[in-house]
Amino acid sequence: MPTEGQPTILPLQYLKGVGPRRAEALAREGIVTYQDVVLYVPRAYIDRRSAQSIAQLREIARKQTTSDASSFTEQLSIRQQVSVVASVVRIHKKVVGKGRSMLQVDLRDESNAVLQLIFWNQVAYYLKILSEGATIVVHGVPQFEERWNTLSMHHPEVEVVDDEEAGQFGAGAILPRYRLTQGMVSAGITMRVMRSIVDQCLEESIPAMPDPLPHEVRKERLLIDRSQALFALHHPQDHAEIHAAQRRMKYEELFLFELLLAARRKSRKRPEHGIAMQSQSNRARALIGRLPFELTGAQKRVIREIIADMTSGTPMNRLLQGDVGSGKTVVALLCMLNAVDNGYQALIMAPTEILAEQHFHGLQRLLGEGHGLHVQLLVGSQRKKERMQALQAIAHGTATIVVGTHALFEADVAYHKLGLIVIDEQHRFGVAQRAELKRLGQHSHGAEQRTPHILVMSATPIPRTLSMTLYGDLDSSVIDQLPAQRKPIKTHVVFESKLHEVFGFIKSEIALGRQAYIVYPLVERSDKVDAKSAIEHFEHLCESVFYDMRVGLLHGQMSWAEKESVMKDFLERRFDILVSTTVIEVGIDVPNATVMLIENAERFGLSQLHQLRGRVGRGGEQSYCFLATKDHFKYQLSRTSSTEDISKAPIRLRTMEETTDGFRIAEVDLRLRGPGDVMGTRQSGVPDFTFADLVADAELIAETRTDAFSLLEQDPQLRREEHQSLKAELLRMFNDSTMSTVA
Ligand code: ADP
Ligand code: MG
Repeated sequence: MPTEGQPTILPLQYLKGVGPRRAEALAREGIVTYQDVVLYVPRAYIDRRSAQSIAQLREIARKQTTSDASSFTEQLSIRQQVSVVASVVRIHKKVVGKGRSMLQVDLRDESNAVLQLIFWNQVAYYLKILSEGATIVVHGVPQFEERWNTLSMHHPEVEVVDDEEAGQFGAGAILPRYRLTQGMVSAGITMRVMRSIVDQCLEESIPAMPDPLPHEVRKERLLIDRSQALFALHHPQDHAEIHAAQRRMKYEELFLFELLLAARRKSRKRPEHGIAMQSQSNRARALIGRLPFELTGAQKRVIREIIADMTSGTPMNRLLQGDVGSGKTVVALLCMLNAVDNGYQALIMAPTEILAEQHFHGLQRLLGEGHGLHVQLLVGSQRKKERMQALQAIAHGTATIVVGTHALFEADVAYHKLGLIVIDEQHRFGVAQRAELKRLGQHSHGAEQRTPHILVMSATPIPRTLSMTLYGDLDSSVIDQLPAQRKPIKTHVVFESKLHEVFGFIKSEIALGRQAYIVYPLVERSDKVDAKSAIEHFEHLCESVFYDMRVGLLHGQMSWAEKESVMKDFLERRFDILVSTTVIEVGIDVPNATVMLIENAERFGLSQLHQLRGRVGRGGEQSYCFLATKDHFKYQLSRTSSTEDISKAPIRLRTMEETTDGFRIAEVDLRLRGPGDVMGTRQSGVPDFTFADLVADAELIAETRTDAFSLLEQDPQLRREEHQSLKAELLRMFNDSTMSTVA
């Protein structure tokens, strides 16, 4: 913070009850203009009718605590935030231990039951703002204390309601609740002050507010206008009004974003000439005849979709999604053969050398004896002479199928006639990388400079709604079916006190000739993080439980060469057990591995757990995944870790137990974390929406998508008079280069 010079004058400081200090606190939250204030919509609402009575809460919490919850999932009841409106009946400060003080505040509401609030921090602050007889609104997680037979909340959010507001409450009004940060509160912006700031801004800006949504769209979709919606959000009459207002704001948000995507797609489709291939491929047909299995219906469908692109004359930009084990490789190979039979080269790129090598051998195995094709491997670790030979074969076109890593795109690699690029396992594949790919696509030094077709394969399932927005400018195919004989992985959450049973089970699987993974969250022991580490436990396991087994160690701090060699040893069964960190997440395909134990499973994200688990269940044998967590997990949750991430662990673990469906898991993940965290917002290009929920609002996304694409058909440059406020809003929101070419 610069301390010298003139303070900037902020428009909000002249509002009643604001002044420079509060205006600055608001500015720190990005609230500078009247418009910003009006768009700072309530995070929640509170009214007497929807607040829960203390007696009710007490009953629910008591049941959850005292029923002899025997199963794991029962013990991990999802702890939810609730709101309570009640009066303060007693304030009691206690000094505990070494002069540490604690504040206990008893509340009573109309149900006549008592709720105890407990504060260990900021005791002086709460003593100042709370007084006996005051009406307050609290938000927090209630818990029943069996020992004392009481209902309590630790460190809830507290809002004191003044007489006037208490009166409004009585009259049935719905009061908006805004998110107040520490900085805002310290500057004296209480809930009441915030409400007054909002009201002043509403009065000023609502009459002057243009509506970016075209009239015909609003009419068609029965949407209220913008100023009406924003007013209703801050001053709702009832819940139906809140709902209508939210729907309208969601629509606007999604519509603008879909317009951006539509514009991008338009600009992409325009200038490029693709390769129009034939759909006849003798090699592909022969391969299908030779496969030891029948292609699944989903595989056949996506092949048709891909081939249709390759014959269209427009460069393909397709995302192929399929859960782990859904059989993407054979789909890719069939399409590559189609390119080869059309006289083009095809390449497949994997994220690591070991995966590239697996593809190199796997593809040749699939092609069978005497296929007569030159399949070329190109990876960074090849010796100079080997590399020179590879480069020559690629440049001359004798190598028709090229398999490798990023090395495939280095500057000295020239292709003879590149027709198809397949990118495998490229999850977290964002807009930025796609732009890079496009550039790489121009590498083809053949006679005709045509953009090759691009197929991106991802094993990280992306919820349909998210992929529509994320990859709205990519076409997408989904393999939504696993080969019939695949057995779902049996997944169990286990408490640490039962680990010896899991170890026993691992031994019995190894006795049957199978292999196992044991995964830890940390590489090394840490004083800061209370979690197990691979190195420490590797040593321990080698000396104790698994002293007579062959145990390998793999983690991210090892050199690249060490890692590759350990993975190779495991693949070739020189180890029975691989102790590892998450480095195996995008790893090797070892069909013989049938057990995975993940320690401190509560620390992993959902998609991470799914990816890890995908390392087993790849062969024909029944596979198992054990998610180990602390015995007193529930206790841990409420006492030591208040971080949101850990508190959602029960939902993650439960989801893992319940399903192996990657798309379901991805949806839950998206719900828990939001799109920004799931995909990495910056990279993915998906804004963090204020109103829209990418899972819940699937239908709305589809509607806005249709409307946005059709609007751009009718008015490609947004020239019409009635689209001017829309255009202005678009340019304001997305400082995107594509937008300026269209709008
Ligand atoms: P992923 O989609 O995870 O890349 P793979 O392509 O590696 O999956 O396929 C996993 C395994 O399933 C391979 O051993 C492959 O040969 C086999 N496979 C692929 N398609 C089928 C099918 N239709 N029926 C039976 N097995 C199949
Ligand atoms: Mg694969």
